[in-house]
This record gives sequence, C-alpha cells and structure tokens, in this order.
Amino acid sequence: MKSRQRRDVLKTATALLVGGAASQAMPSLGADAPKTPFNVAATFIPIAGMSEMFPVRRIYCIGRNYAAHSREMGSDPTREPPFFFQKPTDAIQWVPPGETIDHPYPPLTKNYHYEIELVAALHQGGRNIPIDRALEHVFGYTVGLDMTRRDLQRAMGDEKKPWEIGKSFDRSAPLGPLQPVPRVQHFTQGAISLKVNGQVKQSANLNQMIWSVAEQVSKLSEAFELMPGDIIYSGTPENVGPVVRGDIMEGHIDGLPDIRVKVV
Ligand code: MN
Repeated sequence: MKSRQRRDVLKTATALLVGGAASQAMPSLGADAPKTPFNVAATFIPIAGMSEMFPVRRIYCIGRNYAAHSREMGSDPTREPPFFFQKPTDAIQWVPPGETIDHPYPPLTKNYHYEIELVAALHQGGRNIPIDRALEHVFGYTVGLDMTRRDLQRAMGDEKKPWEIGKSFDRSAPLGPLQPVPRVQHFTQGAISLKVNGQVKQSANLNQMIWSVAEQVSKLSEAFELMPGDIIYSGTPENVGPVVRGDIMEGHIDGLPDIRVKVV
C-alpha cells in the first residue's frame, strides 16, 4: 500500500479496528511536534473493552523457555537458561477476534514455522524489578505467534551470526487484542495450543514455562530498562513446525480469545 493510502486507511482507531493492521499514523503531538519530511507510523494494539489503544515501544521475546522446546532446538535446558531477543515494533500484525486474517508467506524462506506464545504487555517500567513486584508492571495479556523463518534462523545460528533475518522480519508477530489484567488476571497455568487446519500441532501448559512471566519481567529488567509499552513474547512449547500457503493457524490459551491466521 502506498504511504498516502495507508495514512488514509489507518488514520483513526476505528479504521484500525476493521483494518486488521496495528500501525497507524502518529496522533498529533500538538504545537510542539517537530516538522518532518514524511510520516512514520506508530504501532498500537487494541485493548478489549476500551476505546484507548496500547502504544507499543519494544517487543522482547524469550527463547527456549519450555524445556521440551529447548531440547527440540538442540540445547540442554538444565545447562542453558532462556534468553532474550527482539522483534521490531512494526512486526506486529493485529488479529481481530472472531476473524481470520491473511498473513503473507514471507520471502526467502522454505521452512516457515509457527510458535504459539503467551504475550504480556507492560504499563510500568523499571530496572532490577524484584520477582514479587514484577506482575504489578503487567497491563494485560494476549495470544501471539512468534513466526520464524527457521531455515534462515538455523543458518545464521550455525554461522554464529544474529537471528534477525529468521525472527525479526515484517509481520512476524501476529497477536490478538490485549485483555487487561482486571478482566483476565495473571497467567501461571492453563492450556496453550496451536492447530493447523484443525489438527493440534502444539499442546502444553503455561506452568511448563522455565521462567514465569514474573521472572521474565524481572530478568529482562536486569538487562534492559523496561518501559511502559514494552511487550514480552513468553516463549513457545515443543512441536514447532512448518506452514505453507493456504494453511489456517488457530492459536489458543485458556482464558483468552483465540486467534486465527491464514497463510497466503
Ligand atoms: Mn518464540
């Protein structure tokens, strides 16, 4: 889409809600806003039950946070703890509840994988956040997919190069609307699953995470100053696998609305 058209389509939150995209033109910053030669879209996630949108600052992801997935990726969870990487903020592709959105098969890959994940969104930041205060920083949760060009990720890993091209590409972060904590409470257990074309591919329990959400927030805040607007992909359980054009992925976490994504 050309940028002018894109601006027009995504100008308002209302347009966003029917548009299936999560980027829109930055709201006016008022008289103090600097003049710029062009506009850069900011990224927002709709919030269930609210007219306000959640502004996204950074996307952190936890790698190898379920023991069985860590083993299937070739590492030993008793010796290597989970770790972090990031996706660019505008990798988010918003999935409206009850709809099936089109997700373009990305370029360069021949082995395109799903990873179903719980996503936590922060409304407070900080450094060195203690575990027992960490959940106070969480605004809400949703279901997300950490889409992965596995062949490119592996190739870069084999060469000890960064994962960006395998993990941090356009639309690599489909997710549903945020469910605020007062509506859904916090997630320490419950089923997490992914179906492809109606067949269960991944099925696990959130209580199998090596680092809980509270521990993720605490650990992350030792490495980075967390800020309001940061979101965290919590890691995927075992049995990741490929999708091809035409496949429909259905992501489920007990207590959150499902997401449905068609690869096109
Ligand atoms: Mn992942």
